[in-house]
Amino acid sequence: MRCIICHSQKQQLLQDARGARFQVCEECGFIMRDRQQSLGREEERQRYLLHENSRENEGYVQYLQRFLNESVLPHAAADCRILDFGSGPLPVLTELLREAGFTTDAYDPFFAPDTSYTAHTYDLVILLEVIEHTSDPAAVIQQLSQLLNPGGIIIMQTQLVTRQIGAAFTSWWYKEDPSHISFFTRESMDVLARRVGMIAGYPGKNVIKYYAKG
Ligand SMILES: [Zn+2]
Repeated sequence: MRCIICHSQKQQLLQDARGARFQVCEECGFIMRDRQQSLGREEERQRYLLHENSRENEGYVQYLQRFLNESVLPHAAADCRILDFGSGPLPVLTELLREAGFTTDAYDPFFAPDTSYTAHTYDLVILLEVIEHTSDPAAVIQQLSQLLNPGGIIIMQTQLVTRQIGAAFTSWWYKEDPSHISFFTRESMDVLARRVGMIAGYPGKNVIKYYAKG
């Protein structure tokens, strides 16, 4: 059994009070929910429909606006092309970006499954609360890194596992969502960035940016 991020064999198994099983990498800290216990495709889709992430939810729109202002707009030239990867049931982030004048494509395996985004290249690729849902994050990031224009940036937001959480992982609220299956530490984010020939930066809490080298 190896870590799917750093490939180390030093893995520890954890089980929480409800019997959910996790594999913890002692090398890079990446934590993986037992894939045998992952939701089925339809269960996963239903789970996303429970999120009240609509335009009418003022708090959600404010959260998105803050994310855009702090983490996206500083990198966004007027003519840049942006991919909202994992855009969700209601692509509010995509809408806000388009309203701000940016050419923006959206992809979501459940709700916007058109893969024509693969025919384009991007200056910015955004994964907002997405990477924790992916069963093979390395494959996803590898694919997206190949769609970047020179100088392009991958911008992610996910709850990072810190040293404190690591010790108390089995009682961490974030892992209670059964659609959260991949949990990163900074170290595992660094390893993944290196695998795709990029460099990770951490400009804000739980915000991770992958930049081109050099
Ligand atoms: Zn690892």
